[in-house]
Amino acid sequence: MDDCVFCKIISGEIPCAKIYEDDDVLAFLDISQTTKGHALVVSKKHYDNFLATPKEIMHKVMDVAQTIGQSQIRNLKASGVNILTNCYAAAGQTVMHFHVHVIPRYKNSDGLVIEFKENKLLGELSLPQIADSIKKNM
Ligand code: AMP
Repeated sequence: MDDCVFCKIISGEIPCAKIYEDDDVLAFLDISQTTKGHALVVSKKHYDNFLATPKEIMHKVMDVAQTIGQSQIRNLKASGVNILTNCYAAAGQTVMHFHVHVIPRYKNSDGLVIEFKENKLLGELSLPQIADSIKKNM
């Protein structure tokens, strides 16, 4: 894709701090280091996001993300890792090329807050009904 920043990194047009590369996958440091070692793992072929990526390629990207997370624990002395991928702008995706964030966490010292807490604004929800909606045509 002509105007995709990750495609430009993959083609070498834009530099990156490379961590890993094979035929299908590239991993490099995120330019905005949310924590020290924040890495991105991307498919070399352009897919808009995780949901649009063929499973075989998605599995390869996740495999590299796992290895990098293990290395961050071992080599950066991280005490945890967040592995996440944003799909579509509503979920915070800003670069529309499939990528997985691998974010090392440093206990009580990295200042990053990722919280999944109950949304009180939603009121009473029927969890079985919601589960049934998601399950349809799966
Ligand atoms: P997302 O918001 O999930 O789409 O994440 C996109 C990420 O790409 C952000 O964390 C950016 O900091 C990162 N990013 C954008 N441009 C570059 C670049 N040239 N090199 C490395 N990371 C980048």
